[in-house]
Amino acid sequence: MGLNDIRTRVETACKAANRDPAEVKLIAVSKVQPLERVEAVLEEGHRLFGENRVQEAAGKWPDFRERFEGVDVHLIGPLQSNKARQAMDLFDAIHSVDRPKLANAIARLAQEMGQCPDLFIQVNTGEEDQKAGVLPKEADAFIAECRGLDLPVAGLMCIPPVEETPSLHFALLAKIAARNGLTGLSMGMSADFEEAIALGATHVRVGSAIFGERVTT
Ligand SMILES: *Cc1c(COP(=O)(O)O)cnc(C)c1O
Repeated sequence: MGLNDIRTRVETACKAANRDPAEVKLIAVSKVQPLERVEAVLEEGHRLFGENRVQEAAGKWPDFRERFEGVDVHLIGPLQSNKARQAMDLFDAIHSVDRPKLANAIARLAQEMGQCPDLFIQVNTGEEDQKAGVLPKEADAFIAECRGLDLPVAGLMCIPPVEETPSLHFALLAKIAARNGLTGLSMGMSADFEEAIALGATHVRVGSAIFGERVTT
Protein backbone atom coordinates (compact mmCIF):
# COMPACT_ATOMS: atom_id res chain seq x y z
CA MET A 1 0.00 0.00 0.00
CA GLY A 2 0.93 3.63 -0.03
CA LEU A 3 -0.25 6.89 -1.47
CA ASN A 4 -0.14 5.97 -5.16
CA ASP A 5 -1.88 2.71 -4.58
CA ILE A 6 -4.69 4.38 -2.67
CA ARG A 7 -5.03 7.13 -5.28
CA THR A 8 -5.43 4.44 -7.94
CA ARG A 9 -8.04 2.64 -5.87
CA VAL A 10 -9.95 5.89 -5.34
CA GLU A 11 -9.97 6.48 -9.11
CA THR A 12 -11.07 2.94 -9.84
CA ALA A 13 -13.88 3.22 -7.29
CA CYS A 14 -14.99 6.51 -8.89
CA LYS A 15 -15.07 4.95 -12.35
CA ALA A 16 -17.04 1.97 -11.08
CA ALA A 17 -19.57 4.37 -9.55
CA ASN A 18 -19.67 6.59 -12.64
CA ARG A 19 -18.30 9.48 -10.65
CA ASP A 20 -15.77 12.14 -11.53
CA PRO A 21 -12.61 11.52 -9.43
CA ALA A 22 -12.36 15.30 -8.94
CA GLU A 23 -15.43 15.04 -6.71
CA VAL A 24 -13.67 12.83 -4.19
CA LYS A 25 -11.01 14.28 -1.91
CA LEU A 26 -8.49 11.93 -0.34
CA ILE A 27 -7.69 13.01 3.21
CA ALA A 28 -4.44 11.38 4.33
CA VAL A 29 -4.94 10.83 8.06
CA SER A 30 -1.56 11.52 9.61
CA LYS A 31 -2.41 11.28 13.32
CA VAL A 32 0.24 9.53 15.42
CA GLN A 33 2.39 8.81 12.35
CA PRO A 34 6.12 9.46 12.56
CA LEU A 35 7.00 12.80 10.96
CA GLU A 36 9.23 11.13 8.35
CA ARG A 37 6.23 9.24 6.98
CA VAL A 38 4.15 12.40 6.78
CA GLU A 39 7.00 14.26 5.14
CA ALA A 40 7.42 11.49 2.56
CA VAL A 41 3.76 11.85 1.56
CA LEU A 42 4.18 15.64 1.32
CA GLU A 43 7.24 15.07 -0.87
CA GLU A 44 5.09 12.90 -3.13
CA GLY A 45 2.92 15.96 -3.69
CA HIS A 46 -0.05 15.19 -1.49
CA ARG A 47 -1.53 18.26 0.21
CA LEU A 48 -4.66 17.25 2.11
CA PHE A 49 -4.30 15.77 5.58
CA GLY A 50 -6.47 14.85 8.54
CA GLU A 51 -5.71 15.01 12.24
CA ASN A 52 -7.90 14.00 15.15
CA ARG A 53 -6.35 16.06 17.92
CA VAL A 54 -5.87 19.83 18.06
CA GLN A 55 -2.75 19.65 20.21
CA GLU A 56 -1.01 17.11 18.04
CA ALA A 57 -1.81 19.04 14.86
CA ALA A 58 -0.52 22.27 16.45
CA GLY A 59 2.79 20.51 17.04
CA LYS A 60 3.48 19.57 13.43
CA TRP A 61 1.47 21.50 10.85
CA PRO A 62 2.66 25.09 11.30
CA ASP A 63 6.13 23.78 10.49
CA PHE A 64 5.10 21.70 7.49
CA ARG A 65 3.02 24.59 6.16
CA GLU A 66 6.12 26.75 6.12
CA ARG A 67 8.01 24.18 4.11
CA PHE A 68 5.28 23.03 1.73
CA GLU A 69 2.94 25.23 -0.33
CA GLY A 70 -0.82 24.74 -0.32
CA VAL A 71 -1.26 22.36 2.57
CA ASP A 72 -4.84 21.76 3.81
CA VAL A 73 -5.44 20.16 7.18
CA HIS A 74 -8.84 18.94 8.36
CA LEU A 75 -9.83 18.19 11.95
CA ILE A 76 -11.59 14.81 11.99
CA GLY A 77 -11.65 14.17 15.75
CA PRO A 78 -13.72 15.57 18.62
CA LEU A 79 -13.46 19.25 19.48
CA GLN A 80 -14.01 20.88 22.87
CA SER A 81 -15.59 24.33 22.72
CA ASN A 82 -12.68 25.86 24.62
CA LYS A 83 -10.32 24.73 21.84
CA ALA A 84 -12.52 26.08 19.04
CA ARG A 85 -10.43 29.20 18.50
CA GLN A 86 -7.20 27.26 18.19
CA ALA A 87 -8.91 24.76 15.88
CA MET A 88 -10.26 27.55 13.65
CA ASP A 89 -6.77 28.99 13.37
CA LEU A 90 -5.21 25.65 12.51
CA PHE A 91 -7.68 23.82 10.30
CA ASP A 92 -9.23 24.39 6.89
CA ALA A 93 -12.21 22.22 7.78
CA ILE A 94 -13.75 20.73 10.92
CA HIS A 95 -15.57 17.40 10.49
CA SER A 96 -16.80 16.98 14.06
CA VAL A 97 -19.42 19.65 14.73
CA ASP A 98 -21.90 17.73 16.85
CA ARG A 99 -23.63 19.90 19.44
CA PRO A 100 -25.20 23.34 19.92
CA LYS A 101 -22.60 24.54 22.41
CA LEU A 102 -19.80 23.95 19.93
CA ALA A 103 -21.79 25.37 17.01
CA ASN A 104 -22.46 28.53 19.01
CA ALA A 105 -18.82 28.89 20.01
CA ILE A 106 -17.72 28.53 16.37
CA ALA A 107 -20.36 31.02 15.21
CA ARG A 108 -19.20 33.63 17.73
CA LEU A 109 -15.57 33.17 16.76
CA ALA A 110 -16.39 33.25 13.05
CA GLN A 111 -18.01 36.67 13.57
CA GLU A 112 -15.00 37.91 15.44
CA MET A 113 -12.38 36.44 13.11
CA GLY A 114 -14.27 37.21 9.90
CA GLN A 115 -13.69 33.66 8.64
CA CYS A 116 -14.65 30.10 9.32
CA PRO A 117 -13.36 26.70 8.21
CA ASP A 118 -15.73 24.48 6.20
CA LEU A 119 -17.85 22.56 8.65
CA PHE A 120 -19.15 19.00 8.60
CA ILE A 121 -21.78 17.86 11.06
CA GLN A 122 -20.95 14.51 12.61
CA VAL A 123 -23.86 12.08 12.77
CA ASN A 124 -23.76 9.11 15.14
CA THR A 125 -25.38 6.80 12.60
CA GLY A 126 -24.93 3.74 14.81
CA GLU A 127 -26.43 5.53 17.84
CA GLU A 128 -23.49 4.36 19.94
CA ASP A 129 -23.27 5.75 23.47
CA GLN A 130 -19.52 6.20 23.39
CA LYS A 131 -19.43 7.89 20.01
CA ALA A 132 -19.71 11.58 19.21
CA GLY A 133 -22.23 12.93 16.75
CA VAL A 134 -25.88 13.97 16.68
CA LEU A 135 -28.41 11.17 16.51
CA PRO A 136 -29.94 10.59 13.06
CA LYS A 137 -33.36 11.75 14.28
CA GLU A 138 -31.88 15.00 15.59
CA ALA A 139 -29.79 15.71 12.52
CA ASP A 140 -32.30 17.78 10.52
CA ALA A 141 -32.95 20.12 13.45
CA PHE A 142 -29.25 20.52 14.22
CA ILE A 143 -28.39 21.23 10.59
CA ALA A 144 -31.10 23.92 10.55
CA GLU A 145 -29.74 25.35 13.80
CA CYS A 146 -26.21 25.59 12.35
CA ARG A 147 -27.54 27.24 9.22
CA GLY A 148 -29.46 29.66 11.42
CA LEU A 149 -26.14 30.64 12.95
CA ASP A 150 -24.83 31.36 9.42
CA LEU A 151 -22.26 28.60 9.69
CA PRO A 152 -20.76 27.28 6.44
CA VAL A 153 -22.11 23.73 6.63
CA ALA A 154 -20.39 21.77 3.85
CA GLY A 155 -21.79 18.36 4.66
CA LEU A 156 -22.05 15.44 7.06
CA MET A 157 -19.57 13.01 8.55
CA CYS A 158 -19.89 9.57 10.13
CA ILE A 159 -17.79 6.80 11.65
CA PRO A 160 -19.75 3.54 11.40
CA PRO A 161 -19.71 1.03 14.27
CA VAL A 162 -16.80 -1.40 13.84
CA GLU A 163 -18.96 -4.49 13.86
CA GLU A 164 -21.57 -3.41 11.35
CA THR A 165 -21.73 -3.27 7.58
CA PRO A 166 -20.46 0.23 6.82
CA SER A 167 -22.56 0.61 3.67
CA LEU A 168 -25.79 0.82 5.66
CA HIS A 169 -24.34 3.74 7.60
CA PHE A 170 -22.98 5.44 4.49
CA ALA A 171 -26.40 5.12 2.83
CA LEU A 172 -28.11 6.59 5.90
CA LEU A 173 -25.69 9.52 6.00
CA ALA A 174 -26.21 10.15 2.27
CA LYS A 175 -29.97 10.12 2.76
CA ILE A 176 -29.87 12.66 5.61
CA ALA A 177 -27.57 14.88 3.54
CA ALA A 178 -29.78 14.69 0.45
CA ARG A 179 -32.97 15.63 2.28
CA ASN A 180 -31.15 18.64 3.74
CA GLY A 181 -29.65 19.76 0.45
CA LEU A 182 -26.07 19.03 1.53
CA THR A 183 -23.53 17.64 -0.93
CA GLY A 184 -20.47 17.01 1.26
CA LEU A 185 -20.11 13.48 2.65
CA SER A 186 -17.09 12.71 4.82
CA MET A 187 -17.15 8.92 5.09
CA GLY A 188 -14.95 5.91 4.44
CA MET A 189 -11.61 4.92 5.99
CA SER A 190 -8.84 2.45 5.07
CA ALA A 191 -11.08 -0.60 5.25
CA ASP A 192 -14.14 0.74 3.45
CA PHE A 193 -13.43 3.86 1.39
CA GLU A 194 -14.43 2.15 -1.86
CA GLU A 195 -17.91 1.36 -0.53
CA ALA A 196 -18.14 4.95 0.72
CA ILE A 197 -17.30 6.28 -2.75
CA ALA A 198 -19.96 4.03 -4.27
CA LEU A 199 -22.47 5.67 -1.91
CA GLY A 200 -21.45 9.25 -2.61
CA ALA A 201 -18.47 10.10 -0.36
CA THR A 202 -16.84 13.41 -1.25
CA HIS A 203 -14.12 13.12 1.42
CA VAL A 204 -12.56 9.79 2.33
CA ARG A 205 -10.33 9.69 5.42
CA VAL A 206 -7.57 7.16 4.89
CA GLY A 207 -4.77 6.67 7.42
CA SER A 208 -3.11 3.29 7.83
CA ALA A 209 -3.54 2.22 4.21
CA ILE A 210 -1.41 5.21 3.15
CA PHE A 211 1.08 5.53 5.99
CA GLY A 212 1.20 2.00 7.39
CA GLU A 213 -0.09 0.87 10.74
CA ARG A 214 -0.12 3.55 13.40
CA VAL A 215 2.72 3.09 15.84
CA THR A 216 1.30 3.53 19.32
CA THR A 217 3.34 3.61 22.46
C1 LIG B 1 -7.97 7.53 12.45
C2 LIG B 1 -9.18 7.96 11.72
C3 LIG B 1 -9.35 7.63 10.36
C4 LIG B 1 -8.37 6.81 9.55
O1 LIG B 1 -8.41 5.47 9.95
P1 LIG B 1 -7.67 4.34 9.09
O2 LIG B 1 -8.44 3.11 9.44
O3 LIG B 1 -6.27 4.31 9.56
O4 LIG B 1 -7.80 4.69 7.67
C5 LIG B 1 -10.49 8.12 9.73
N1 LIG B 1 -11.40 8.86 10.38
C6 LIG B 1 -11.28 9.18 11.68
C7 LIG B 1 -12.32 10.02 12.33
C8 LIG B 1 -10.17 8.74 12.40
O5 LIG B 1 -10.05 9.07 13.69
